[in-house]
Parts: sequence; structure tokens; C-alpha cells
Amino acid sequence: MLELADVHVRYGHVEAVSGVDLKVEPGTVSLVLGPNGAGKSTTLKAVAGLVPLSSGSIGLDDEPLSGLPPHRVVRRGVALVPEGRRVFAPLTIEENLRLGGYTAPRAKVRETLARVYEMFPILNDRRASAAGLLSGGEQQMLAFGRALMSEPKIVLLDEPSMGLAPTVVDTIIEKIVLMAESGIGILMVEQNTEAGLDIASEVRVMNRGQVVFAGPAEQVRTDASVLHAFLGDA
Ligand code: ATP
Repeated sequence: MLELADVHVRYGHVEAVSGVDLKVEPGTVSLVLGPNGAGKSTTLKAVAGLVPLSSGSIGLDDEPLSGLPPHRVVRRGVALVPEGRRVFAPLTIEENLRLGGYTAPRAKVRETLARVYEMFPILNDRRASAAGLLSGGEQQMLAFGRALMSEPKIVLLDEPSMGLAPTVVDTIIEKIVLMAESGIGILMVEQNTEAGLDIASEVRVMNRGQVVFAGPAEQVRTDASVLHAFLGDA
């Protein structure tokens, strides 16, 4: 289980994350909603070791993660799928995937690659194509596949629905469910309130660095006024 306890992150004088607590259980999806600038991405970056905590702690299965450099966080089992996907456009799909497996032994990479191709047949069909030629939805799947190459226990998703048409978002959501069903804990950040609500078990709403609502997704689904109260028109 991933656990954040009273996490604070500062950029100079700005406190971007102010006392965030959350847990992600294996095989579940936790959703963090909130408007632009709420501190969602910074929370994910803190878990991934990309920004230091000013206080608080992050742990995975009761071992501390905070303070480790990003490559060691990956080795411990936490993979980030960044906002905007950031695939390497000139490289092929397979090259992109292999980069995601850089922390794993060679024999293992072959096995994991086969599993990723099974989960994302579209990547298998186009394994020798340049990643830059893929559509936005396909690039998102490639970014998921690249994260899976490190055999993570936890996957961090930063706005996976961003810029995608609703039907493509549905496909992406199906893939997120598959990842969770394989036992991975998913921490997903979204500005889009609809995306992910149906598959999440826990929801957090962030505003100005703080968690202003925390509760089961069920409560949000059955009582939309909860979200309106915290998100306004966002
Ligand atoms: P978005 O959806 O726009 O990414 P967010 O909820 O993910 O929003 P963050 O990107 O985490 O929010 O930003 C939280 C706050 O930290 C904002 O006030 C933002 O301006 C600030 N911030 C983010 N990155 C930096 C940085 N590298 N340097 C300084 N301030 C930053």
C-alpha cells in the first residue's frame, strides 16, 4: 500500500502541497480531483521523487519512499505516467517500451514486453512505428505500457484523459481498470470530474494545496452536490 502522511511541498515561497494524507490499496483506483493549480501534479511528482518534500512522509508497504531519487522509486515499484504522456516521438513503440524497462534484467524485459503487448494489442500491431505517428489515445496507451515495463505495484496517472475525445477516454478508462485488476494500485489525478469517477474507490478533492474533501467514490457518485460544493464549476 502507498501511504502519504501530512505531505508538504514548497516551490520557493509557494506551498504547492499543504498537508496531504492519502492511501492507495493494491488493486484499487484512487482519484484526486481539483482545479488547475490545486497541487495535484506536484503530489504525484513528490511520490515519484521528482520534487523533495518540505515535511511529511511517503511510504510503500511500510518502507519509506520519500528522499529516494526517481530511479530508486521506480525500482521500489512506483511508475509515473506524466501529464501530456511524453513519449519519445522519433523512437519506435518498442524502443519506448524498452526504455520503461531500463531497471529490469534483460530476460525479464522480454516477458514483460509480451504481457504489455497482450494488454495493448494496438501497440503490438504497430511496434515498429515511430511513437510520434500515434494518435493521442494510442500515445496514452504507450505511456501506460512504458510504465508497466517496470513491473510496478503502484502507477501514478497525471490527467490521462487530457485532450482526448470521449470515446477514446472510455478506452483509456477500460485499460486503467485492467491495470487495477492485475493488482496494481492506481493513483489518478484529473481535472475532468467525469473521467475516473465510476472506477475509483476513493476520491480526494484538492484546492490550493489542501485536501478539501476525502471520501468513498460512492458518496460522490450518489450525491453530486458533494463535488459541486468543493469544485464549484471547475
Ligand atoms: P494542473 O492541473 O494545472 O497541473 P495541479 O493541480 O496539478 O494543476 P500543480 O501543477 O501541482 O497543480 O501546481 C500547484 C501550485 O504550484 C501552483 O500554484 C503552481 O503555479 C505551482 N507550481 C507548480 N510547479 C511549479 C514549479 N516548477 N515552480 C514553481 N511553482 C510551481
